[in-house]
Amino acid sequence: MTHATDRTVLTDDELLRYARQVLLEGWDIDAQLRLKSARVVMIGAGGLGCPASETLVRAGLGQVHLIDDDVIEMSNLQRQTLFLPADIGKPKALTAAQMLQQINPLIKAQGTVARLSLDNAYELLDMAAGKPDLLLDCTDNFATRDIINRISVRYQIPLLSASAIAMEGQLALFEPHLHSGCYHCVFGAPSIDTELNTVLDERTCANSGVLASTTAIMGSLQANAALQYLGLTKNPLTGKLLLWDGSRMQQRLMGYRQDKDCPICTV
Ligand SMILES: [Zn+2]
Repeated sequence: MTHATDRTVLTDDELLRYARQVLLEGWDIDAQLRLKSARVVMIGAGGLGCPASETLVRAGLGQVHLIDDDVIEMSNLQRQTLFLPADIGKPKALTAAQMLQQINPLIKAQGTVARLSLDNAYELLDMAAGKPDLLLDCTDNFATRDIINRISVRYQIPLLSASAIAMEGQLALFEPHLHSGCYHCVFGAPSIDTELNTVLDERTCANSGVLASTTAIMGSLQANAALQYLGLTKNPLTGKLLLWDGSRMQQRLMGYRQDKDCPICTV
């Protein structure tokens, strides 16, 4: 008898649950097994984190760990698909993990109520148990994105970064070990006013608004890239930044390279 915790075989339940995926051309049992063995840490269990984690968990991602220090508010329900009105006031990370575990009991979903920093990253990412296979940035502010990028480079963990605002989104998959560029190479440093200690010129969902479909689309695109990376060991966005413009229904890819003077990934 095989168990869901055995990562070298698929159980009968798993074969049944993932049947439509295993049937796919270009996706086979080996791809499904790689996905089953994978551990992903997602920072942010909100507008992007909800649809991205739900798709990954339904698809058979073995272990997902959500980190978020926020609680659920009424204004989140418009787009944060794992939450119900009864969840208002509860921590997002734990509520989302609980829901994901119910959606797919064959995987392991974990939530931690915390704010990720350079100081607590080793512990929060459970590096003692080995590196996660992929970090998913599902946050909504530039300062946190910068910290996640530094963590990705420091520990050499691939980073799949998505953002969504108003009717626009961006997606990139950085692989630090390839020296092909990091988040800082593409977007630069957050402009910090040290006296005020706040990031200036920053648009967030809270101050600029976001259409419900923008986060759903970007979270799904993020899951789409993650599944290929984890299951097929293929980065569909090598050296490319994906830009989504929801008002024109346009998606385009913009090339980027490592900035040879980048203070984060070239030192
Ligand atoms: Zn860089």
